[in-house]
Amino acid sequence: MSHLLKNKNLKELAKIYDWVSMCTHCGNCKYGYEYGAATNFAAMLCVQGDKFNFDSYRGSRGKVSLARSLLHNRIGWSDKVAHVLFTCTSCGACQQMCETDIKPWILRMFETLRYEAWKQNVAIPENIKAWSSTIGTLYNPYKEPHENRLDWLPSDVRASLPKKAEYIYFAGCTASYRRKQLARATVSLLQKLKVDFTVVEDEWCCASPLLRTGQYDLAAKFVEHNKALPEKYGASTFITTCSGCYRTLGRDYTMDAPEGYADKYGKMTGVKVLHTTHLLEEMLKKGEIEFTGSFNKKVTYHDPCHLGRHAEVYETPRNVLKAVPGLELVEMYRNRKFSFCCGAGGGVRGGFADYSLETAGKRVKEAEATGAELVTSACPFCYTNLADAIELNKSPLKMEDVVEIIEPIVRRK
Ligand code: SF4
Ligand code: SF4
Repeated sequence: MSHLLKNKNLKELAKIYDWVSMCTHCGNCKYGYEYGAATNFAAMLCVQGDKFNFDSYRGSRGKVSLARSLLHNRIGWSDKVAHVLFTCTSCGACQQMCETDIKPWILRMFETLRYEAWKQNVAIPENIKAWSSTIGTLYNPYKEPHENRLDWLPSDVRASLPKKAEYIYFAGCTASYRRKQLARATVSLLQKLKVDFTVVEDEWCCASPLLRTGQYDLAAKFVEHNKALPEKYGASTFITTCSGCYRTLGRDYTMDAPEGYADKYGKMTGVKVLHTTHLLEEMLKKGEIEFTGSFNKKVTYHDPCHLGRHAEVYETPRNVLKAVPGLELVEMYRNRKFSFCCGAGGGVRGGFADYSLETAGKRVKEAEATGAELVTSACPFCYTNLADAIELNKSPLKMEDVVEIIEPIVRRK
């Protein structure tokens, strides 16, 4: 089929034309429903559609139409096309709602469209261009010096960590440069739990922002670099508190082509990837952890898209929170696979800060409606956007990561 396509320049998009063809244009991806559920659920899930409210923006159907139209030369690249592509947060809600064979490929299709946009060099948001221009030498998207990456780690703790260990705590760029207290809390937690771990100075960005914004070629050297770290440090497992790192290390680095990117670079094998909440849940189940205090607050949990819909980890963080003495967990209306994105992903926080914070503000209002005093999540990137929106909207809510709730009141039995 792809030989019939008129636009011969879109080689990567043409490769996935068979997937693009699978869309029946049914429109399920434009809204969230629970079919046949005991209690009916219906809500807007697409943050992009909620903001721009035009068919191209809403769910995956519009992007499929763009892909087909570009491939058949019915439309050309323009600022508007790029705006549609880069204001999607890659939250995965449309993928969740789709019931046809294109379902597994929807997010990959978005990334491929963005990949082609870079090739055409049309209307890439200036702020995305800005961090992309230095990430190849600084190894982080925050334009911070690489040599400062471990500044969050107290020097005495750094000196006490082994050179080789079973686990590598992969802090990620956001915790390393912007949420240092979360990185410190994670290290303190791992020490309290007597985990054999280390932190490595040659950690680079996991490449999530590159992959999600379609910069596959630049991402390749990051993947090749990071996947060599376990062997170098004698580790069997990456552990991360960042949902974006978890999704990227655990899925993008390890999936088979063509679903993953092993057609672009080598696949990581023989290495386990855990989110911190996985470790906590496992140790709780085995009775290896005891609480030394309580957390007497009403709390609501925000599902990070990269841990939730992208990796289908919904219950693990909730099981951990439910085990905390005194903590009352209440749910927002949109939760688990029907969660509403914080608005930061897919390069949107970097590319369109106002729209990103407006989305986070909507999520904060939803959290307030539960009557919770505190909103928690399991991702430093969600933390940053929600905490900023809490401040911007003068919300009475507090924000803490699951690790920050647990760390002060836990010890290994
Ligand atoms: S990934 Fe999320 S923001 Fe993007 S189109 Fe799908 S539902 Fe909308
Ligand atoms: S992407 Fe899936 S849900 Fe959306 S219109 Fe196409 S087939 Fe329907």
